[in-house]
Amino acid sequence: MEHLGVVSPIEKYVQHIGEAALERIFKKARPIRGMRVVHINSTFDGGGVAELLDPLSILMNQVGIETEWHLIQGELDFFSVTKKMHNALQGADMHQTQRKMQIYEEVLRKNAMRMHLNRYDRVIIHDPQPLFLINHYTKSCPWIWRCHIDLSRPNPTLWKYLAPMVEKYDAMIVSAEQYKQKVKVPQRIFMPAINPFSIKNKSLTDEDMDERLNHYNIPTDLPLVVQVSRFDVWKDPQGVIDAFKIARRQVDATLVLLGNVATDDPEGPGIYKKLLNQQEERIILISKDDTCLVNALQRKAAVVLQKSLREGFGLTVTEAMWKGTPVVGGNVGGIPLQISDGTNGFLVSSVAEAADRIVRLLKEQPLREEMGVRARATVLEKFLLTRLLEQYIDLLAGFETRFFLKQ
Ligand code: UDP
Repeated sequence: MEHLGVVSPIEKYVQHIGEAALERIFKKARPIRGMRVVHINSTFDGGGVAELLDPLSILMNQVGIETEWHLIQGELDFFSVTKKMHNALQGADMHQTQRKMQIYEEVLRKNAMRMHLNRYDRVIIHDPQPLFLINHYTKSCPWIWRCHIDLSRPNPTLWKYLAPMVEKYDAMIVSAEQYKQKVKVPQRIFMPAINPFSIKNKSLTDEDMDERLNHYNIPTDLPLVVQVSRFDVWKDPQGVIDAFKIARRQVDATLVLLGNVATDDPEGPGIYKKLLNQQEERIILISKDDTCLVNALQRKAAVVLQKSLREGFGLTVTEAMWKGTPVVGGNVGGIPLQISDGTNGFLVSSVAEAADRIVRLLKEQPLREEMGVRARATVLEKFLLTRLLEQYIDLLAGFETRFFLKQ
């Protein structure tokens, strides 16, 4: 039977990281084989966290850590509050009323009644949505809060409310040095990473790519400029369209904005609808969940954009770089951790700069190729999932073993 690439054996990574690295990972995992670990977040679908947890939880099992992945449940008003919290943690204003905080706390109380987290040896909570869960348990093992958001300037009022919760955790993980906070909890930096064998990232034949693009009537007669992102103001879809329109005065191309809607992000559909009136023959907006289309677009594009205004890390940047496509990214959050300006892509701080770099890349094929080669090498060196797995193993094994009763 043909292997769809949904579950790849960890041994496949040897071709990218070498045997010694894989042996080292297995050796580090040996003392914690059988450890029961749970990851908890708020969506199985859409966004970088789900994208990471899917393959990471499988890899953890493949090295013998009994890892589960569970979701909290909530209704629209809960996710509307948590999206406001997400935005405020990235620096937006928030009208933080008692009613909103009550919805947040009460929904998590219900979730806690259904989730028996004391049966695990390590609990890993992702992002602010399930953060408050910890208040409903008497801890019997280390709890880790993994925050994927750009925390460089969190809204002070919200942070004041969240900090005492964060301090109940035994460790906090962020994606970059500048996201660390003044809280009494050890903080680690883990940058996200990609699964090179997934349907989104594996190599595709020209026929595969053409089939996907044809399916959505995406023309390939002109070079493609692509942004793949949830429809979210922080991803600046309007800035992308504006930059493209300026660039097109000099070089002709087709823009494709592909987005999906995460189940924990109620703002997405409205933002997509607002953009739709700008759709035209050469500006194509697609709201679909199609992993293979993401792969085909990131590969086929002459230029990938990630013109974010805030960005925790930006897995879409990593994914495009892995495919050897140069990325023009906003100079914010996690994007400069991946792109070194002018070397393996471009960093921009305005619509005008984005337009200028689009034009340069569209006009200069050798530049595109050189940057693409360096982009892929960056991902190979720093952003494959086995690196992240090893960081988690080190962290999980690092707590005192008295917490891990099965030893
Ligand atoms: N994504 C997708 N389809 C879309 C838009 C996004 O599969 O239409 C994926 C994208 O490929 C990436 C993830 O969602 O894997 C987004 O992660 P990122 O870190 O870039 O941003 P986030 O959504 O977490 O802010």
